[in-house]
Amino acid sequence: AGSGKFFVGGNWKCNGTKDSIAKLVSDLNSASLEADVDVVVSPPFVYIDQVKSSLTDRIEISGQNSWVGKGGAFTGEISVEQLKDIGCKWVILGHSERRHVIGEKDEFIGKKAAYALSEGLGVIACIGEKLEEREAGKTFDICFEQLKAFADAVPSWDKVVVAYEPVWAIGTGKVASPQQAQEVHVAVRDWLKKNVSEEVASKTRIIYGGSVNGGNCAELAKEEDIDGFLVGGASLKGPEFATIVNSAT
Ligand code: PEP
Repeated sequence: AGSGKFFVGGNWKCNGTKDSIAKLVSDLNSASLEADVDVVVSPPFVYIDQVKSSLTDRIEISGQNSWVGKGGAFTGEISVEQLKDIGCKWVILGHSERRHVIGEKDEFIGKKAAYALSEGLGVIACIGEKLEEREAGKTFDICFEQLKAFADAVPSWDKVVVAYEPVWAIGTGKVASPQQAQEVHVAVRDWLKKNVSEEVASKTRIIYGGSVNGGNCAELAKEEDIDGFLVGGASLKGPEFATIVNSAT
């Protein structure tokens, strides 16, 4: 971990029921979490209100996506204004499932980030290469392209956390090695330094996501440029998520 405040997000994706979420919230409420870590969970939209009213204020809440502009006649979408109204402080944008399953493009994702930031939400900006892109030696090109779309759109990086999530590691049980993750995090920081500013490069937290669990988090957290994690599967288990939150200390 670097010098910035460690950041751990739990992406619950499209999982859970009222009952299973009540159990998860109760486990999180009783977990002991290190003080010096930003902790955020991202429930499915329909359960955010339930989570907000039952979860400790120690943990902030994120949307898993948001509409690109002000709400209105956009059937099935959720606006930034609505996320704020129900108590969200963050939104995850550009998650690989939205890019590659739903088909969201770089420019659209950049616009979403700009809008969310303009309304005061923090943005967890996800980037990452697919397996064939890594095998073709294009990891940096893809990450930089996705990063550029965010950089071209956002007016400020103050409330942006970059999540490097190699697609081949998400939900596969195949975690990147600490060296593989660190290598990309350094490259991302270097890109920010050259293309945004030295200050943004040093202050922006770059977190890793992709099959992080209670067993592999401590080794990853030792890397200097890994400033936290975005966790999918393991964030559905309260005690394991707490282990990940506490992994940098
Ligand atoms: C994610 O969806 O952001 C993620 C990292 O998932 P998992 O931890 O399950 O690989």
